[in-house]
Amino acid sequence: MEKKAFKKRFSKTVRPKRKCRFCKTRIAIDYKNVRVLQNFVGDSARILPSVITGTCARHQRELTTAIKRARQIALLPYTV
Ligand SMILES: [Zn+2]
Repeated sequence: MEKKAFKKRFSKTVRPKRKCRFCKTRIAIDYKNVRVLQNFVGDSARILPSVITGTCARHQRELTTAIKRARQIALLPYTV
């Protein structure tokens, strides 16, 4: 690999540090707030992993319980 390309790909300045959306905006995770929850659910209604969404461990935990609650009261689907 060329030196310049290597630098571009792996240097800290180029890659922005992804921050958890809930830590950033300080919005509370609510199972009634379907609009927020829908962003963290994939096409087949599965909960997206934190690796993809960039959610921190603590908020991912809260998010999964919120999504599961929303499913129970039929605000979100289990499968599509
Ligand atoms: Zn967070």
